[in-house]
Amino acid sequence: MYSTNQFLKPVTTKINDNGNLEIGGCDLVELAEKYGTPLYVVDEQTLRNICHDYKKAFSAYPKVNMMYASKALCTCAVSAILNQEGFGFDVVSGGEIYTVYKSGADMSKVLFNGNNKSYDELELALDLGIGRVSADNFFELSLLNEIAKSRNKTVDILLRITPGIECHTHEYIQTGHLDSKFGFDLTQIDEAVELIVNEYTNLRLHGLHAHIGSQIFETSIYADEIEILVKELARLREKFGLEPDEINLGGGPGVKYTDADNPPSVYEIAEVIISSLNKNIDKYGIKPPTLYIEPGRSVISTAGVTLYTIGSSKQVPHGRKYAAVDGGMSDNPRPSMYQAEYFAQAANKPAAEPLQTVTIAGRFCESGDILIKDAELPELEEGDILCVFNTGAYNYSMASNYNRVGKPAMVLVNSSQSDMIVKRETLEDLVSHDVIPDKLKGSR
Ligand SMILES: *Cc1c(COP(=O)(O)O)cnc(C)c1O
Repeated sequence: MYSTNQFLKPVTTKINDNGNLEIGGCDLVELAEKYGTPLYVVDEQTLRNICHDYKKAFSAYPKVNMMYASKALCTCAVSAILNQEGFGFDVVSGGEIYTVYKSGADMSKVLFNGNNKSYDELELALDLGIGRVSADNFFELSLLNEIAKSRNKTVDILLRITPGIECHTHEYIQTGHLDSKFGFDLTQIDEAVELIVNEYTNLRLHGLHAHIGSQIFETSIYADEIEILVKELARLREKFGLEPDEINLGGGPGVKYTDADNPPSVYEIAEVIISSLNKNIDKYGIKPPTLYIEPGRSVISTAGVTLYTIGSSKQVPHGRKYAAVDGGMSDNPRPSMYQAEYFAQAANKPAAEPLQTVTIAGRFCESGDILIKDAELPELEEGDILCVFNTGAYNYSMASNYNRVGKPAMVLVNSSQSDMIVKRETLEDLVSHDVIPDKLKGSR
């Protein structure tokens, strides 16, 4: 069965009676006029559909905690939707904890992750009552115990481990151990558990956590990960007489950025995960553990598009043809960081023949600021609206103010209604954190 992460475009995308692209019943050209560009657009229907896919796909396993990896896109409105859908949250900073908290989400369903959580962030996490901390290293175990002790609290933890599997997009490697900045090596687990049992009595161990990579297309990697986690869980029960009963597989399912990508459906992934779990539960003779999965990209990527306005164009003699947009690497750093590829259409003439090969350049002062190399598009002129698809994940969340450009606004669309969910940064916003010492004050 197909799942929503396998689509190139939001599920509500169509060409409307004006001949323009529309998403969520909203004409994209009208959205660009109303809110300005660049503009992030999030289709609520697509987001809810993928949540539904995940819940349905995993319904065959009795105990599943669906967690959304907030780092993919963390805003109050997006968090509120995911909370409504019954998802918990995987968070990695005080900022993400606070955003999820402000959205009204159930904090007992939040898991705090990261390889260098600060004292202040851990305090905030405990004060706001988050459900789990994924303890990453020996320093953190001691710090967390100290904070918990000073408040007379017990903190519920998972241990983040490095299972010796790593995914580099479409391939993965499996070794005895991996040189990773995240988590405990398999050979360090016993020492960590001994400390928790004997010294860190304000920590309560519930299970193990791993994350093997992102934009994963190969489902069998999850079966290998499960075998390692279940085996370790069984071993810890045997050796320490503990009853940890949770395993967290992390995130990673891929999405379709271009026609060349064929990510697996989440139904297929769930089948591999559940059958491998059942097999290993039998093999190692343990009670079925609670399963956490923490997808980020595959939950939000497809729901998001970015609208830009075309400005200058040029033809390099004997070279490429360029069209420049009013955004680029500050609102979407993925092409310049990872040579990521995207698909785009002209929102005001989606049916026009793609007669030219044109490179979509960003507006920032970096030669590497190219959004799409050699796109097939109709003739473009100044004022055309370009819609870049699959920008929901790791765009806004990685955005910067490079070149002192304000971050774009974000709107949520559904049933012909648009609601602004992030305001556009103004010039005043850009200087609002600057402080001029008295001795430098000028006439303004
Ligand atoms: C990044 C991350 C995720 C989400 O990964 P996606 O590829 O976006 O699904 C989940 N868990 C952990 C621990 C992560 O670091």
